[in-house]
Amino acid sequence: MKNRELIKKTKEINRFLRIAYAKSIKKRKAFNIPFCRSIKESIGAFIEVIYKGLPCPYSLKGTCAPCGYSNIPVAVSKEKIWQSLVTQTDYILKNFEKLILKKDKVDLPHDPKNLVRFALSPTGSFFSNFEIPPKYRKEILEKFLRFSKERNFEFEIFIEARAEDIINLTEREKREITNILNELNVTILLGLESINDLTRNVIYCKDLELNDFEKAIEIIRKDLKCKSGAFIFAGLHSMNEIETFNDIKKTLLYLKKRKILPVIMIENLKSFTLPHLLYLYERHKMIDPFTIHKIILFMSSIFENKKLEWLFADPVGGPPAPKVHAFKNRTKIACPKCSNKILKGIRNLRENYSFNEYLKTTNAIENHKCFLKYESYLNSLKSQKNLKERVKSNLDFALKKKVEYVKKISF
Ligand code: SF4
Ligand SMILES: [Zn+2]
Repeated sequence: MKNRELIKKTKEINRFLRIAYAKSIKKRKAFNIPFCRSIKESIGAFIEVIYKGLPCPYSLKGTCAPCGYSNIPVAVSKEKIWQSLVTQTDYILKNFEKLILKKDKVDLPHDPKNLVRFALSPTGSFFSNFEIPPKYRKEILEKFLRFSKERNFEFEIFIEARAEDIINLTEREKREITNILNELNVTILLGLESINDLTRNVIYCKDLELNDFEKAIEIIRKDLKCKSGAFIFAGLHSMNEIETFNDIKKTLLYLKKRKILPVIMIENLKSFTLPHLLYLYERHKMIDPFTIHKIILFMSSIFENKKLEWLFADPVGGPPAPKVHAFKNRTKIACPKCSNKILKGIRNLRENYSFNEYLKTTNAIENHKCFLKYESYLNSLKSQKNLKERVKSNLDFALKKKVEYVKKISF
């Protein structure tokens, strides 16, 4: 089966589930207050502010199988929602002490005085003209810059974007925002997910060619003169633990070589998504805590204990924490005790960047009997071939079950 056909099936399922989700939402309105995630729930060890705006336009096209961003506030005009992003910015600045400075400790040990680091997230892409048209984008960035100057703060801001939106920036906009971005010390984080085409474009269904990703990185560096980063996704449907581990390893090495900041994301299941459907029908084994442990051991072999060499997103996801995540689900092999040690280790590691501390926290898990079970499970996977066949079989299954699945979870 051709990749093209598998992508078509994935998009059909995703679109169906997103429309079903949108129909289940009763209230649609523009919001004046953004989400504010604490250090523990963010993409790194800093606060993350998430604007409540229009949905990511790619989600409407059916891309990105694990993504749960499909709230479509159709009843409100786009203009109102765009304007609400400015109101949300005013809210952040008015409540800056409470939201960004005091909510959690932001001053990490070796930051220069007054450096305030946080992430600014749109629904999908900060540079999408559908989500935030250029004039609003500029207004928002200027507000942050003015505030930082008035208050004598130096900011370091992480902003999420789609590669295509960076490529599509006009020369005029690039000229207008480059200085602002630089004064705000912006790092632009792109969704890459994996360097493997089958993983990225068929299983994750990203709709992104690797050379477009590289083109966007070049624009970020050369034209916008910003730092760059990329999301990596661990735990996709149909892939087994060995495939996942090898995939992450290669993607981490690729990013490290190019000095692109990796942001590691661990799957957690959202309702109305393809992986959740497959999980409910016992066709998806979530990434095992031991595989996540192996990824961390690999990271410790290629990275030093240096802060901001990588970011690790909240491994559980939320708030509120989902009922099913990698450390709590019926498919995992690591026992609750070992799972908790790994989870605790990651929570500390993403803040203190000490692999030694991580090893102390997870001490002896490899001697526990559940690890033997995990190893024999890995051995049983060695003979498993033809990932594409497994993908096809899961997609055909999901196509048949999608209506029943929606009914099942709507109660
Ligand atoms: S680009 Fe991001 S927000 Fe949009 S569908 Fe993909 S993962 Fe979701
Ligand atoms: Zn155990």
